[in-house]
Amino acid sequence: MSAAVHSLKKNYKVYLFESSNFPGGRCRSFYEKRLNQEIDNGNHLVFTANENFYELCKIIKSTDTIKTLPPNLNFFNLNNNSHWSIDLSKISSLRLLLGKNKPIPNSSFIDYLSILKFLFVNRHRTVSEIIGGSNIFSTLWDPLTIGVMNTSSNYASAKVLSNVLKKTVLRGDKYCYIYQPKINWNKTLIQPTINFLNNHGCRVQYKSMLRKIDVLDNAVTRLYFTNQVVDVLKNEIVVLSIPPSNLQKLLPQYTFPSSYNSIVNVHYKLNRNLKKKFKHSIIGFIESHTQWIFIKKNHISITISNANYLNSYNTEEIATLVWKEVCKYLNLKIGIPDYQVVKEKKATVVQSPKNFDIVEKIKNLPNNLRISGDWTQSDLPCTIEGSILSGRKAVT
Ligand SMILES: Cc1cc2nc3c(=O)[nH]c(=O)nc-3n(C[C@H](O)[C@H](O)[C@H](O)COP(=O)(O)OP(=O)(O)OC[C@H]3O[C@@H](n4cnc5c(N)ncnc54)[C@H](O)[C@@H]3O)c2cc1C
Repeated sequence: MSAAVHSLKKNYKVYLFESSNFPGGRCRSFYEKRLNQEIDNGNHLVFTANENFYELCKIIKSTDTIKTLPPNLNFFNLNNNSHWSIDLSKISSLRLLLGKNKPIPNSSFIDYLSILKFLFVNRHRTVSEIIGGSNIFSTLWDPLTIGVMNTSSNYASAKVLSNVLKKTVLRGDKYCYIYQPKINWNKTLIQPTINFLNNHGCRVQYKSMLRKIDVLDNAVTRLYFTNQVVDVLKNEIVVLSIPPSNLQKLLPQYTFPSSYNSIVNVHYKLNRNLKKKFKHSIIGFIESHTQWIFIKKNHISITISNANYLNSYNTEEIATLVWKEVCKYLNLKIGIPDYQVVKEKKATVVQSPKNFDIVEKIKNLPNNLRISGDWTQSDLPCTIEGSILSGRKAVT
């Protein structure tokens, strides 16, 4: 959709095909019967550093649907019941380094110096290789890596985490504020984009899965969708913005990343009294299955990233497991409320040096073919920002 918006801005004629019957892909909202409301499939955190995201929202005129939260992250360690917070607007990296702030219990200022290890990292290294011995590895570095890259530190690319740190924390607190939709992602990103496309003469053709492409003389000449065949004219370009496993089927002669990590979200319906018991609107959990709790209007939404280990659990097992942890945070014993579990088995590719290496080696595509999507940006994590940037770059 980003590629389409940026093409329309340049006055190109755009045809957009989508395999499913809804827009948004991995960032979508849907009506959930049990909770009786429209919810997001997951909790997408976007930061003020994510300039391409904000630029797109300006183009589609949705900036007034965004709220900006201070960079104040609150944590609860389930193992020892400790609560602590990091307010990045109050702690500059300099203050941390000078030992003026030590937000994590039992940490010393030397532990925070470890961030300097990310200034110069080799692109073949993993986060664990850089910082695995740190005293705040399990309380900060590993949860941070999983939150940002949906990949455990043992596999996550240190170079990409380093790029994120350089664009956010190390650049200054003003790049670490959190963007959240006032209502949901459909209202902030998806529907306004669809409106923009419609207003510029581009209607998404749903239920159109691309199954095969013809390439002749190093140019894509024909696209075979489930419901139609489309000839590609000489002056046209094709942008394939699809996950690598699907692309692999269309372009078997190239190698694309093939390993994924899932993200599980559990949404619980919540009454007002219970909602009041959560002290913050976003809470990070440490040493638990639960990683983040987002407090919404009528429900709470829990994120578990790097969650392949939950793929074999059924929804009831997951909802029960997580609810026990929520009760521990609340220090209450309450029966499980209505819930919905959303398992995204291919939430992102494994963001390892190996997979980023594979992406960098994708060369010599047909002349009129571009690829985009979050996974195509080998210097950024697989995020909304990377996805939007990749769409813009594909048509620039
Ligand atoms: C649960 C969850 C939580 C996340 N949390 C965050 C977060 O906190 N912050 C953040 O920035 N990012 C987050 N992400 C990642 C973010 O959602 C993705 O990076 C982004 O949405 C990817 O967009 P995309 O357009 O690159 O790919 P997709 O959203 O996967 O879009 C690809 C589209 O192509 C369609 N398609 C696939 N194959 C074909 C075909 N053959 N023919 C036609 N159409 C096809 C698909 O149906 C889909 O609509 C999260 C993702 C998930 C799943």
